[in-house]
Amino acid sequence: MIITTCKDIEDIIKFLEGEKSVFIVGCGECSTVCKTGGEKEVLDMKASLEKKGYAVTGYCIPDAPCTVAQIRSALRENKKAIDGADSILVLTCGLGAQSVKDNFLSEKTVHIGCDTQFMGQVCKDGVLLERCSGCGDCILELTDMICPITRCPKALLNGPCGGQNKGKCEVDKDMDCAWVLIYKALKEKNKLHLLKESRPPKDHSKMLKPRRLKV
Ligand code: SF4
Ligand code: SF4
Repeated sequence: MIITTCKDIEDIIKFLEGEKSVFIVGCGECSTVCKTGGEKEVLDMKASLEKKGYAVTGYCIPDAPCTVAQIRSALRENKKAIDGADSILVLTCGLGAQSVKDNFLSEKTVHIGCDTQFMGQVCKDGVLLERCSGCGDCILELTDMICPITRCPKALLNGPCGGQNKGKCEVDKDMDCAWVLIYKALKEKNKLHLLKESRPPKDHSKMLKPRRLKV
């Protein structure tokens, strides 16, 4: 899941400077879970903009605006309302917003209403946790499913730094040291031998941006 947070309404108003009307696009998946671009947030945004004097010509909330088929069909279905607006305000992650821009065959201005934070895991109490940095060369098999690249602020590959104290991370004392967690997990499974091999430095060529894959 892509984790997003809402931009401040005053920042969004600045983006809309000189415009009078807007069409809003939300997201039925990630942004709905994050409460940044689901139906409630889209309607709240509509009400806030109308209060500030903007006309909202319509809105749509495709399940996954980051997929071509879904965003194209949603934009097509709402073409008249979009044509009647000065711009499109997108309450999704950066992927969704760029997907709107790339798939709407018009020069209509697109504004982003959310900040994309990270790829995250949704816990049952509603907490969103960053657990993967998309490094392109997964080592979870060697670390009992605990990602040191993401959960260790220094992204260390060969065990803890000297700063860990009683199992807590020196960067954030409320957080468990990722490498202590890995050690404990591997010990419990009699797999400590996995720690004996030294891992080479990360091959950052696997993370060269922009990455492109064909499925
Ligand atoms: S090692 Fe970590 S950052 Fe890389 S793919 Fe696996 S979980 Fe993601
Ligand atoms: S204390 Fe542990 S988690 Fe924190 S930076 Fe050092 S190795 Fe990484």
